[in-house]
Amino acid sequence: PFGPIRVTVTGAAGNIGYAALFRIAAGAMLGRERSVDLRLLEVPQAVDAAEGTAMELADGAFPLLRNITVTDSLETAFDGCDVALLIGAMPRKQGMHRSDLLAANAEIFTAQGRAIGEHADENVRVLVVGNPANTNAAIARAAAPDIRGDNFHAMMRLDHNRAIGQLSSRTGVSADKIARVTVWGNHSNTQVPDVDHAFIEGVPARERIQDDAWLDGEFASTVANRGAEIIKARGASSAASAANAAIDHVRNWVLGTPADDWVTIARPSHGEYGVPEGLVFGMPARSRDGDWHVVSDLERSERVLRLTEATIADLEGERDAVRALGIT
Ligand code: NDP
Repeated sequence: PFGPIRVTVTGAAGNIGYAALFRIAAGAMLGRERSVDLRLLEVPQAVDAAEGTAMELADGAFPLLRNITVTDSLETAFDGCDVALLIGAMPRKQGMHRSDLLAANAEIFTAQGRAIGEHADENVRVLVVGNPANTNAAIARAAAPDIRGDNFHAMMRLDHNRAIGQLSSRTGVSADKIARVTVWGNHSNTQVPDVDHAFIEGVPARERIQDDAWLDGEFASTVANRGAEIIKARGASSAASAANAAIDHVRNWVLGTPADDWVTIARPSHGEYGVPEGLVFGMPARSRDGDWHVVSDLERSERVLRLTEATIADLEGERDAVRALGIT
């Protein structure tokens, strides 16, 4: 009864794009009932590489894959788009100042946000993966005033999944039996992994683990610094785990979250938990019937409150730096 879902992937020739596209084509993101129409956006010099990925996708003979378009045109990429994964971003190069990086990305995400506002479906769901993801999402959102602000998200799911992964390794309990983890704030090392409301096999996580020093120390810092550790070990950024988290995020957005659980998403704050309105901030949320509802009544410890202030300040700093560039 439905046509294919139009999925746009930017930075499609990059590592995360390469890891995500085949699973999207296989139905891991939208379910095995919905066909997909893939739009791969790249910068002109990477279009050939994206064409190569498109050839491999065709060679996958995926039953759900109805169309693949490779383009460097924003209009073609976002025309009628239902789901946008904004993965491509300007990487930090040696000697580059933070303000140069912010400016380059502000330009990319302003142009993409504008194109989404002009060409995408009015209910488009946008997930920003490219860093600095939270601020890039705020920029894209500001450039598309006619689209609901709630539909612009930044990816905190990898941080969320990393936290679950650490708890699973420590306890030997499988990931599906670990619930209600939250990672507050920015997808940077100021993020605040919080297990105060988490359960492991139905037992409160702190009771089950019996080691608050580990939870507040090594666990939290391992989760927050995992990206750098992976670069050290692999000699390259995490890619498959980031792709996996993006797929998890969108799958929950479309198909819902389990009734007794929540996940971490970052969308523009409505002022929940005292977070300044408009900051794209990691918070616990449940998805039902295609819509997210932030879990807004959790009690937070002194420690979480204090650390949350720091991640708010981090995001305000990014916001102000972008404002100072005169972009939003
Ligand atoms: P990746 O595919 O590895 O990463 C893409 C982005 O995701 C980066 O900004 C990266 O941030 C970010 N990211 C977010 N979370 C994570 C995570 N947990 N682990 C790793 N990365 C994470 O980058 P590549 O360089 O392989 O590919 C990028 C592609 O994007 C290139 O092909 C380039 O041409 C393209 N591009 C496309 C644009 C467009 O479509 N208009 C615009 C700009 C670039 P970080 O840098 O901090 O690792």
